[in-house]
Amino acid sequence: MQSRFVKADAEAMVARYGEARVSRDLALRVYTTRLLGADPRLVLHGGGNTSVKTRTPDLMGREVDVLCVKGSGADMATIEPAGLPAVRLAELRELRAREALSDEDMVRLQRANLIDPLAPNPSVETLLHAFMPHKFVDHTHSTAVLSLIDQPDGEARAAEVYGSRMGIVPYIMPGFWLAKRAAEIYEANTAAHGLILHKHGIFTFGDSAEAAYERMIEMVTLAEAALRRGRRAVFASASTPPSPASAGGRGMLRLAEAAPIVRGACALKDTANGAHRRLVLEFRSGDAVLNFVNGADVKRYATAGVVTPDHTIRTKNWPLVLEAPQAGREFAARTTAAAAAFLESYRRYFARHNARCGGVKTMLDPLPRVVLVGGLGLFGLGRSKKDAKIAADLAQAAVETITDAEAIGCFESISEADMFDCEYWSLEQAKLGVAKELPLAGQIAAITGAAGAIGAATARAFAAAGAEVALLDVNEAAARSVAQAIGGAALAVRCDVTDAASVQAGFDRVVENFGGVDIVVSNAGAAWQGRIGEVDETILHQSFDLNFYGHQRVAQAAVRIMRAQGTGGCLLFNTSKQAINPGPNFGPYGLPKAATLFLARQYALDHGADGIRANAVNADRIRSGLLSDAMIAERAKARSLTPAAYMSGNLLGREVTAEDVAQAFLAQALALKTTADVTTVDGGNIAAALR
Ligand SMILES: [Zn+2]
Repeated sequence: MQSRFVKADAEAMVARYGEARVSRDLALRVYTTRLLGADPRLVLHGGGNTSVKTRTPDLMGREVDVLCVKGSGADMATIEPAGLPAVRLAELRELRAREALSDEDMVRLQRANLIDPLAPNPSVETLLHAFMPHKFVDHTHSTAVLSLIDQPDGEARAAEVYGSRMGIVPYIMPGFWLAKRAAEIYEANTAAHGLILHKHGIFTFGDSAEAAYERMIEMVTLAEAALRRGRRAVFASASTPPSPASAGGRGMLRLAEAAPIVRGACALKDTANGAHRRLVLEFRSGDAVLNFVNGADVKRYATAGVVTPDHTIRTKNWPLVLEAPQAGREFAARTTAAAAAFLESYRRYFARHNARCGGVKTMLDPLPRVVLVGGLGLFGLGRSKKDAKIAADLAQAAVETITDAEAIGCFESISEADMFDCEYWSLEQAKLGVAKELPLAGQIAAITGAAGAIGAATARAFAAAGAEVALLDVNEAAARSVAQAIGGAALAVRCDVTDAASVQAGFDRVVENFGGVDIVVSNAGAAWQGRIGEVDETILHQSFDLNFYGHQRVAQAAVRIMRAQGTGGCLLFNTSKQAINPGPNFGPYGLPKAATLFLARQYALDHGADGIRANAVNADRIRSGLLSDAMIAERAKARSLTPAAYMSGNLLGREVTAEDVAQAFLAQALALKTTADVTTVDGGNIAAALR
């Protein structure tokens, strides 16, 4: 591993932060923390921490000795000085004399000794940092070090590689006891440059930021060299993976065909009220992943446990392992059975260890967070796309770590009881009741015509309600700018609903990205006019192609995915006042919209048994691409009204906005017992009222 320390960069950071009155010590601590955090082979998603012992004025202006240690929630790659809260060092060190200290008391004492009471919680490894005498302490979960030590004889291997340069600490869960034991081991050999924490990671020390960092690089490089010595090829393939086949043919299912089956199997089904607990997927593949998932022995090494304990809350202790998704070989049935076995096994694991802990723990959802699929790759799963990506990142790091561990020996994790203690750590459990999820968390919504006023407002409303949103539009650039404004994982997809191949490709893209789809807002449309006794038939065909067949193509593509998932779904159609109450010379627009209103009812009827609901929103007089400012001015003039009076010409006397329509779609998505409904959003128009 190459050092990325550059003296000039370090000094530049000292100068830059110096202007903001950040001390040299802390600026250098930020610099090397970012170097460590930027390398996924060292640190992933909160899996590491650093500290510096320095002096700082407290809120009363008195200089005190402090430990600035990474706070929970800070990302090392982008950390700022505020991400390293200062804690009174003498008080932390005093705790070493205690006979025992519960995790709750440890956190309370750490908070009580913060210089700034508004600072984030210091890391759970704070005491270990405090008990070491060195000014700078660095900690990572280096994959190379883990490959070396995640072995039955990992401690002996570490001793062979490092000799007396590193102290070796047996596995203990992070917290007070680990800090005490680590301090004792260091004190038995104060010449050591750091500590190897068996089956957990590595600490290095230094009197300067550079020294601690360079020692980390040096020790990781020694582990990398050890992994190259005596290495053997690993993971003979179970069989040659089948080659992808065209739909319906022999061979392997495509990702877009397999993902909804996996996602549906990894959902908790509550058939009583139609609510499902669903997860979002993130797919990864490549040579290393395929070599791993295709191995003949994959069930053994993939389910042997986590590579370092803090992965467990993100990935659970073992993945769901599936064989290659061969077409015509009942992949769906076998996936359902394998997922059910996973849930059962997880529930038994919880019961076993909860009994050991006195029955006080609350079970987390038993769904897998990583799924390995032979021939295809791996999925990370999460309640949001962000969590799914984190699970996938950690799963890829585990693939690398386990592959290298098997190449030099035999991968071995911590015990099941130790994994349970990390997964069900009391401080994590305490957060359970507090965190409230948004109503559409875990759901994927696809919106067509998403670059238009109503589509964009609907995408924003669904994202705000916790759904992951895919914005489909014939104008991909416009959809992308709406997606960027929403932020998060919002996805822009080009989709022309008048082209069956484009609809198929668009939904494939949504599924490849998120794993499936739960809600579709079929919104794309455009207006054509013409007096019905004279209008050219081509105009009618064009309008029907977009305003009726467009909805049918979208709904049919969605239903295929929803049925593969087997967790129901929701189809929402944007119809129009014209579908109920025709306007003069608007037949070419109103006729296909009337057919679409009945299309919603037909879907409700034919697919209610699949748990798929179908509803429509019947809106009128919304400022949008269909009703431009010029059209509003023209119509207002024809009625001798101002544009504002025309727009609010309804029973309530209020203009109806795209946001109002979006809220109606959202209400329909949330109403789990409502199907074949038409919701009117027009401010009140008796002539257009449904009867
Ligand atoms: Zn750690």
